[in-house]
Amino acid sequence: MNVYLDNAATTPLDPEVFEAMKPYLLQHFGNPSSTHAHGRTVRAAIESARKKVAELLNCTPGEIIFTSGGTEAINTILIGAIHRYNPPLVVTSPLEHHAVLHTLEHAVGTENIRYVNIDEKGNVDLDHLKSLLQGTKGALVSLMQANNEIGNLLDLHRVGEICAEHEAWFHSDTVQAVGHYKHNLKETPVHGITAAAHKFHGPKGAGFMYVKRDKKIEPYLFGGGQERNMRGGTENVAGIIGLTKALEIAYANMEQHAAYIRGLKARMINALRATIPGVSFNGNSGDLDNSLYTVLNVSLPESGENEMLLFNLDLMGISVSGGSACQSGASTGSHVLRAINVPKERGAIRFSFSKYNTPEEIDFVVEKLGQSLLVQK
Ligand code: PLP
Repeated sequence: MNVYLDNAATTPLDPEVFEAMKPYLLQHFGNPSSTHAHGRTVRAAIESARKKVAELLNCTPGEIIFTSGGTEAINTILIGAIHRYNPPLVVTSPLEHHAVLHTLEHAVGTENIRYVNIDEKGNVDLDHLKSLLQGTKGALVSLMQANNEIGNLLDLHRVGEICAEHEAWFHSDTVQAVGHYKHNLKETPVHGITAAAHKFHGPKGAGFMYVKRDKKIEPYLFGGGQERNMRGGTENVAGIIGLTKALEIAYANMEQHAAYIRGLKARMINALRATIPGVSFNGNSGDLDNSLYTVLNVSLPESGENEMLLFNLDLMGISVSGGSACQSGASTGSHVLRAINVPKERGAIRFSFSKYNTPEEIDFVVEKLGQSLLVQK
């Protein structure tokens, strides 16, 4: 049996999405900026894709800008907001994806970033956020909606309201949330969000950002004026079509898929508890009602062999992500697990699920993991 439980890294393409993309790779190959018929056909397809994405997220088409993925969207928003507003303060958390952390470090320097406190479960201390913003006006705040490693969720409304009190520009990295949770952007006090299609069964190399109409930012990629001058470069037409189809499918089946995947996660939690004495779960990921339903970050009993464990699972056809808190050796370890003080002696495995996984796969993986741990003893 080959089992893929690394869906937070990327998800398999939905065959329906592939079918939707095909004509835009073969017949409709025109450059959307060309004014002839070949160009106009694909221009129309891109604009109707933009309209569809905007409809699903309840915003206006002009607020959606297609990008090459999550990283580009995040870079554009953060650097574009810094250039436009020159914020007196930049606030983020130590648990953000490197796409946020490294971009901010590059843009303003680590010494100019304030990191909001988090507790041992990785929850953002909102009182600390308030105190950081106290007496300021026009800060830039970047806090993720769903953590890719430990599955913690952030209440965008509460954070957005705190930001609004201080006129802060609020970006949320929603890369792990888009396609898994619904967004109603007209009703959410957030100024920018970011997404990558390959996290919800769309193609790699396609993503988007939402930038609120009255909170415009500077462009980051300059060129031919595409994407309303917000992102130069010939559009990835098939990618945009695929992203849109994937989002439509995700929205059409969201409750059903969420319940199914949550069931897989619950099954794994129970099976792990029954099989591995001393197992625990990092962050909030073990709390079914209070974490991303696609992510389970398992903390394994102390062992010197945790690197070998992932290798052994791979040999058995099981693809998962590792990431101990360890900083030495070949692996640089996980900055997220270090930040929440997971002991470096404990191994960590991130299992992440999709609609394509089955209960049989979960049972198989837990059985093999249990056997591997016994062999290591
Ligand atoms: N933000 C989060 C939370 C992610 O999980 C990822 C990808 O793993 C990214 C940003 C970057 O997305 P991409 O690699 O598609 O550019």
